[in-house]
Amino acid sequence: MLISGSDLLTVAAKNSFAVPAFNVSDYSMLNAVLAISEEKQSPLIIAIHPNEIANLGWDVMPSVIQAARRASVPVAIHLDHGATYEQVLQAIQGGFTSVMIDGSMLPFEENVALTARVVEAAHAVGVSVEGELGTIGKTDGYAEEGADTIIYTDPADAVTFVERTGVDTLAIAIGTRHGIYPSDLQPELKLDLLREIDAAVDVPLVLHGGSNNPDAEIGEAASSGVNKINISSDIKVAYYLKAREVLADTNLREPDTIQPPCRDALKAVAAQKIDLFGAAGKAELY
Ligand SMILES: [Zn+2]
Repeated sequence: MLISGSDLLTVAAKNSFAVPAFNVSDYSMLNAVLAISEEKQSPLIIAIHPNEIANLGWDVMPSVIQAARRASVPVAIHLDHGATYEQVLQAIQGGFTSVMIDGSMLPFEENVALTARVVEAAHAVGVSVEGELGTIGKTDGYAEEGADTIIYTDPADAVTFVERTGVDTLAIAIGTRHGIYPSDLQPELKLDLLREIDAAVDVPLVLHGGSNNPDAEIGEAASSGVNKINISSDIKVAYYLKAREVLADTNLREPDTIQPPCRDALKAVAAQKIDLFGAAGKAELY
């Protein structure tokens, strides 16, 4: 069942769990996240970043939409980190049911103006919008957009931002970073700040870059107002670690022998996230 991002997250907010948003970069990963979500009966957000859609090609969209419609669990197709108004409109035209406009690196007023403009267009056609306030860190050059230092989301600014833009969900910066943490950097979530923001704003909150934060912190965030958690690095690392192992056998050449064990490795990590977020079995609520 294909649904909008806000229909998906309203139920999650009411029942205090988080829906995993898994980034997919190819068909094999798409099939893996769909399969594990059905096995776990978990709602799913298929997240596709502009770099990923560039890699996949726009022609993949009818297949993604068809797969989402056919799924036995509710699925939203989400544009991750839309950078411009034009990019978001293109995604809506391509069939995305949820879009993110990331103006977090802009000055506050410009972020408000850009996000409000996107909300007006997206809501006209029933597509939900995620905005971002504060800056999520990044760990290395391979990570998605982000700052070298984290600027934590200010609760009062969050209230103003949600009111003035009309966003359906808000990505906040409370101590996560995109990418995989180097061993000398210790991730730590400000759960008190999360609770403060959650008490102040009434839209579901989104966590980006939670790949290396301790499970206990992420689990607590998922029951404290965070209703969407983006997972990209963790599942890709699992997929390609297995790929390196499998490809050690240099006789292999057929994707149907190389990819299935990689998908299994991705699914094992995804299953653990689904359980951690409290999303297993929640498909029946829709
Ligand atoms: Zn992100």
